[in-house]
Amino acid sequence: NNLIFSGIQPTGNLHLGNYLGAIRNWVKLQNDFECIFCVVDMHAITIPQDPAVLHASIREVAAGMIASGVDPQKNILFNQSRVPAHAELAWVLNCIARIGWLNRMTQFKDKAGKNRDNATVGLYVYPNLMAADILTYKATHVPVGDDQKQHLELARDIAQAFNSQFGVDFFPLPEPQIFATAARVMSLRDGTKKMSKSDASDQSRINLTDGPDEIAQKLKRAKTDPLPLPESAEDMKERPEVANLIGIYAALSDREIGDVVTEFAGKGFAEFKGRLADLAVSVLGPIGTEMQRLTKDPGYVDQVLREGGEKANAIAAPVVDQVHDIVGFLR
Ligand code: ATP
Ligand code: MG
Repeated sequence: NNLIFSGIQPTGNLHLGNYLGAIRNWVKLQNDFECIFCVVDMHAITIPQDPAVLHASIREVAAGMIASGVDPQKNILFNQSRVPAHAELAWVLNCIARIGWLNRMTQFKDKAGKNRDNATVGLYVYPNLMAADILTYKATHVPVGDDQKQHLELARDIAQAFNSQFGVDFFPLPEPQIFATAARVMSLRDGTKKMSKSDASDQSRINLTDGPDEIAQKLKRAKTDPLPLPESAEDMKERPEVANLIGIYAALSDREIGDVVTEFAGKGFAEFKGRLADLAVSVLGPIGTEMQRLTKDPGYVDQVLREGGEKANAIAAPVVDQVHDIVGFLR
């Protein structure tokens, strides 16, 4: 039986990368599979957050998911901290995962930066909490962007280690689902860095709430190079910023990269960026408007998260009970 789980952090503005790499794929999956989508607020505090901003972001991210087409009637949609199973299972998994496994995680290295001793312990064990998020529902498939692939592999290793340590066939090994297009949308300022909510520069990303003028202006200023647009896909190999913009165009228009390259071959960036801005506005504009409507009067979003939390808890709590039995706790 397939069960899909995926999450998103309330760490700031939802952006085009979150939409193309994750949320848009969730919308496609919801008709065919049982899906659980989570605003992972406990992950957000692995980096210090202002409480009032975090509170607002939880609603905003949930609103962004609903505005993008995630249907609360078809799926379970909730915020993580409502369901104690995530933290409870994470503790057990902290006692399964090895320090050496976590030491290989590139997200920790990127986010901790140079002063690693000053990073929170939570940031270090973030992948164990993520494994708990998935395993507490015995999820089989996890649709994520390319950047989360390594964490998914770790979740599989942890599940396998738990099963083998206790001699049980308890956790299924979750499969990452990484979709071919726009699996890694890059920063508009640096084609070697992924677009991120937590990037200090707002110019690095297109937010789902940006208006038409902001979108056009950010794309106009997006880093490119002095050459005209490429004649072939091979031409883009050493041009990460250009490849990124063309990839975004292809993803937003549901076309092949090769098609887009052919259409704009040899043209100038001014024309291409103008067309890309129009396309982005046509896809994101309605989402941003709906997000604003949903957050202005948050009663509906709050109700969705509350009811989703109850449904999630009903699935997750018995799994943690079984884990506690397997581990040998007296209850
Ligand atoms: P943060 O900077 O706080 O980590 P983020 O932008 O990386 O924020 P997350 O909440 O960590 O967003 O990730 C939510 C989902 O969006 C994940 O499935 C992740 O793989 C996907 N995602 C994030 N950034 C990108 C991107 N640039 N391109 C494609 N997918 C992305
Ligand atoms: Mg991230």
